[in-house]
Amino acid sequence: MKKYIKCDCSGYMKPSNVEIMHGLFSEGYKCEKCGEVEFNGEQMRKALRKKEEAIKMVVTRRLGMVGGSLILRIPKHVESEMKFKDGEEVRVIVEKNKMIIEPV
Ligand SMILES: [Zn+2]
Repeated sequence: MKKYIKCDCSGYMKPSNVEIMHGLFSEGYKCEKCGEVEFNGEQMRKALRKKEEAIKMVVTRRLGMVGGSLILRIPKHVESEMKFKDGEEVRVIVEKNKMIIEPV
């Protein structure tokens, strides 16, 4: 494994632990100057495997409207998997084009 990779910004990319998903890290290269991230083939395969293992299920839902607010109904099997209860507080993390809901 190469120690450094030259970045387009003229900085250097060093091997480091890169966040590939909310709270999930994997090996990659990160530029010390601009923060750009790159993976070699093996690092990419590792990162994809970690991501796959972290995802338990994916469900598709249709958003609804109640009293002028958009609502998202959580299916029963997701509710039991997450052990969510009525009235429980959750944290909503909004990333570039996704949203994560986690217990507080
Ligand atoms: Zn850079």
